[in-house]
Amino acid sequence: MKLTRRNFIKRSLILGGSLFFGHKSLFALNKKREQWYPCYAKLEEEGELAKRVEQAYSIFEQCELCPRLCGANRQNGEQGFCRAPAKLMVYTAHPHFGEEISLVGKRGSGTIFFSNCNLRCVFCQNWPISIKGYGKEVQDEDLADMMIYLQKIGCHNINLVTPTHVMPNILNATRIAFKRGLRLPLVYNTSGYERVEILKILDGIVDIYLPDMKYMEASKASKYLSVAPDYPEVSQEAVLEMHRQVGKHLINSQGIAIHGLMIRHLVMPNNEAGTEKFVRWVAENLPKSTYVNIMHQYFPDYKALEYPEINRRISVKEYLEAMHWADEYGLTNLDPQSVRMRKIYARQTRT
Ligand code: SF4
Repeated sequence: MKLTRRNFIKRSLILGGSLFFGHKSLFALNKKREQWYPCYAKLEEEGELAKRVEQAYSIFEQCELCPRLCGANRQNGEQGFCRAPAKLMVYTAHPHFGEEISLVGKRGSGTIFFSNCNLRCVFCQNWPISIKGYGKEVQDEDLADMMIYLQKIGCHNINLVTPTHVMPNILNATRIAFKRGLRLPLVYNTSGYERVEILKILDGIVDIYLPDMKYMEASKASKYLSVAPDYPEVSQEAVLEMHRQVGKHLINSQGIAIHGLMIRHLVMPNNEAGTEKFVRWVAENLPKSTYVNIMHQYFPDYKALEYPEINRRISVKEYLEAMHWADEYGLTNLDPQSVRMRKIYARQTRT
């Protein structure tokens, strides 16, 4: 079958959804599902969402969507650091069961992977998509179709992976999808390399922010993120703005996330990510009840083998140390899977 744009979208959606649900069960699920009123609905009713779409789109003419401030005219096909082409590119859209439990629930997080990225992490595990730019060009209407489909098959949210450089398309697609019945929270699943001025455009549209906080030191950020020495201060400012907008992680009666901030921090070998500084920063700058996921799943990928200090998985001792710091600085809302992993590792060290 020729991979036309239409076929690509169809295949991408089918890949995720129909493997999991038959048509009858889908219908039953949708009838039963708790009605969620997303925050972008209010903006649309006030006539504000259309203005935000227009505001966001105008940035494409001299792109300053992220701290790189390239100034590329993306509308005319000029490319900046992220190498994003003029048209929106999507790699895949499907229910994802590997995210945090409150995002996954029983029916998965409706994940849409965008091609390209404004960072170039040397250990990137999605490098064919984010760095090589694999994916297919789609229109904003097609993205809206994907959102509606993910809702139809029962996903609990629309999880936008690497959204920064395509934020205007996302806003436009959300508005189109809302008019077609989209009622799921948007999850802004970002590297954390965001401008506060741009995040303000998302205020009242995004329900759940899911940022990484990768590094706390400029030298590490510069070395591993393709020259982003400002990453620590930029991501810290961004996370404070996200918290101002959405506040604490909230779940509904079924344990599904509906609003709030969820921070991810990937522990790296030899404490290259600065985990102790990270937990101290959270404890000193945000409520100690902020949802924090201290992740253990680092593995060397892409160009990591060229950097001996990160060319291995983390040890049990390193992970236990990271979780110990979180306790020491008084963080009280650690991701349940990370707590479970700590128990497993602690048991291993005793045997
Ligand atoms: S989104 Fe891309 S083109 Fe725009 S400023 Fe960032 S890296 Fe440059």
